[in-house]
Amino acid sequence: MAPTILMVEDESAIRELIALNLQQAGHHMLAAGSAEDALALMRESLPDLILLDWMLPGMSGVEFARRIKANAHTRSIPIIMLTARSDEQDKIIGLEIGSDDYITKPFSPRELNARIKAVLRRRAPQLAGESMEVNGLCLNPTTHRVTGNNQPVELGPTEFRLLQFFMAHRERVHSRTQLLDQVWGSQVFVEERTVDVHIRRLRRALEQTGHDTLIQTVRGIGYRLSVPVAII
Ligand code: CA
Repeated sequence: MAPTILMVEDESAIRELIALNLQQAGHHMLAAGSAEDALALMRESLPDLILLDWMLPGMSGVEFARRIKANAHTRSIPIIMLTARSDEQDKIIGLEIGSDDYITKPFSPRELNARIKAVLRRRAPQLAGESMEVNGLCLNPTTHRVTGNNQPVELGPTEFRLLQFFMAHRERVHSRTQLLDQVWGSQVFVEERTVDVHIRRLRRALEQTGHDTLIQTVRGIGYRLSVPVAII
């Protein structure tokens, strides 16, 4: 699953250049020319990482980052700030707000790629091809193996991708449409109730190790993977 990167940059030449470069590096790109447009895009689907220009017309990059970090649904999305300034104070503000990294323009595509990789590895290991674990349920995207409390769990390809998506975006509620888009791909025409069928299969496969309860139905909205909080 290619990571989706949202780039917020008002200079179209830079936006297009970076988008092209990151697409070639295997990322799925979303681009917005303003923070307002970016927020509208994010109402449709959430990216795995945001590249954020500091100086934007309208809402500033700082204000946008503040909003993202203040919202429980978007808080966990890593942000890399892009700026022409090399001012130490700006760097401090960016990091205080919760940005994960900071790149000063001009930067080479190679440097940007390396930073993105490092942030994803740290914040979203599943996108860097590393194993994910939730309460004893482990998924390894490289070997395509799933285990529950060290017992192998047999999953069909769709259930595997569904689980991978849920584990990568835990605690977020996904509508059936979003799941179809993200797991099946928007090119495929599938009915929404197909999602329910595969969720049922996924839960059944996870029952043997008691991990089926991780996948929750959110009435009227969709599904989410919720990590139980340990009671001490
Ligand atoms: Ca700008």
